[in-house]
Amino acid sequence: MRQPLIAGNWKMNGTKSSADALLNGVVSGSASISKSEIAVCVPFPLLYLGEQLLAGSSVRLGAQNVCTEAGGAYTGEVSAAMLVDFGCRYVICGHSERREYYGETDAIIARKLAACMDAGMTPILCVGETLEHREEGRTEAVIGSQLEGVLSEIGIDAFDRLEIAYEPVWAIGTGKTATPEQAQDVHVFIRGRIAAQSAVIAEKIRILYGGSMKVANARELLSQADIDGGLIGGASLVADDFLAICQAG
Ligand code: 13P
Repeated sequence: MRQPLIAGNWKMNGTKSSADALLNGVVSGSASISKSEIAVCVPFPLLYLGEQLLAGSSVRLGAQNVCTEAGGAYTGEVSAAMLVDFGCRYVICGHSERREYYGETDAIIARKLAACMDAGMTPILCVGETLEHREEGRTEAVIGSQLEGVLSEIGIDAFDRLEIAYEPVWAIGTGKTATPEQAQDVHVFIRGRIAAQSAVIAEKIRILYGGSMKVANARELLSQADIDGGLIGGASLVADDFLAICQAG
C-alpha cells in the first residue's frame, strides 16, 4: 500500500507573519491526521521559519527548487546541502512554471533530481502536458518524453527514491481540474512506463496529482487507484482547506 502524500506548493507566496499563522495552523490540524503524509514546500526565505515551526510535528518541510551544482560561485542559487541544513525532506523539481519561465530542460531537471538524491532528499518530479498537447492528442507522447528525458540521465533505480507529480498545465491555477478518469488514465500511463523498466519500482512509486485540487474534488481524485496524493497550489495557502485535503487522502 502506498501512503498518500499531500504536499503544499506555496509558490511565491507568504510573508513571515502569514507563514507563521499558516504553518502553526497546519501543524495543529495535522495532529489528528495519520492516513496521509503531509509536506509543505515553502519559498527559500521561509525555510528557517518552517524548520522551527514544524520541529516536533509530523509535517515535512520542502523546497520548490534547487541548484544543479554542489556549491561555490553560483550567485543567487541554493544548493541541496543548504536545503538539508534547513531540514528539507522534499524538493519540487521540474515544475511546469520552471520549465516554461526559467527554461528548465529535462537534462537540467535530471541534474537537480540527482543533486537532491545525493544529498539525501526526496525530489518530486513534475510532468504534464499543455492544453495544446492534449487537444492534439499528444498527452502521452509529451509525458513519455519528459519521463524518458530524466530516465536516460539518472536511470530507473533512482526512481526508487523520488515521487512523481502529474500536473496538467491547463489545470494549474485555472480552476479547471482534470476529471478523476483523465487523471487516473495518465497515472496508469506513467506507472506503465516505469513498470516497463522495473515492476517493483512501479508498484512502490507515488504518483501525485496537481492542478486545481481543492476540498470539493480531492476525495474523488484521491480515491483513484493510481493517484497517490496531491501537489496543492492555491488551496495549500488556507490551512483549513489544506488540512481537509490531507484528511481526504
Ligand atoms: P493549483 O493547485 O493552484 O492549481 O497549483 C497546482 C500546482 O502547480 C502545484 O504544484
